Amino acid sequence: MTRNLPASTAESPLPELGAPVPADAPTILVVEDEENLLFTLRYNLEREGYRVLTANRGDDGLRIAHERSPDLVVLDLMLPGLDGIQLCRQLRRTSQVPVIMLTALGGESDKVAGLEAGADDYLAKPFGMRELLARIRALLRRAGHGERVGPAAPSLRSRDIELDRERHELRRDGQSLRLKPKEFELLLFFLEHPGKVFSREQILNEVWGKDFHGNARTVDVHVRWLRQKVEVDPARPARLRTVRGSGYLFEG
Ligand code: CA
Repeated sequence: MTRNLPASTAESPLPELGAPVPADAPTILVVEDEENLLFTLRYNLEREGYRVLTANRGDDGLRIAHERSPDLVVLDLMLPGLDGIQLCRQLRRTSQVPVIMLTALGGESDKVAGLEAGADDYLAKPFGMRELLARIRALLRRAGHGERVGPAAPSLRSRDIELDRERHELRRDGQSLRLKPKEFELLLFFLEHPGKVFSREQILNEVWGKDFHGNARTVDVHVRWLRQKVEVDPARPARLRTVRGSGYLFEG
């Protein structure tokens, strides 16, 4: 037998989440695959007046970070899709957003790896919510009272090539060319490391991450696509050069 309850007393599957959040509240992205913890974090952060975005996979977290430019990221270390270290490293190519890494208790090497990947702070699980909130407030204050933190530099330039990190756009001869996400990351990688030879395996590791189950062909295909956009004559590449038997080199 079912009873129709008035809407106001009907049971909601989720407890009510905090008070309405002001429009200028700092936005925090939480990337965590433990459902209960993710819920608790969201609940507590919203109650503190933050806007909260969530992801339960690393690759989704990275995409949301790029799309929504949060003011701070709370990042779990062990995640499906892309782990916290890889996510942080990839995020750091385009963003200075403060990152707090959630590590395993006593995982000393995790802490070091997290900080080396560009995390600003870490907290070992299990942690107290008040401790996390205090760290978040401190990081937001350091970043300028929760104001949006822009990318390291809006664009990178090398001769006739200009790569816009915010719009993921390549400008050449006054023309704007859209890049696919991995084309963008690959070109960014080359622009950051001019004049150095990288093997396909190194490039796969750096740009796709070591958990990516692709092969060297993936790199070749993306290099071919990029050449269509950065070379005067893609058939005779002068910028993105093949180094026979070794890999690729970008002439800065
Ligand atoms: Ca996890």
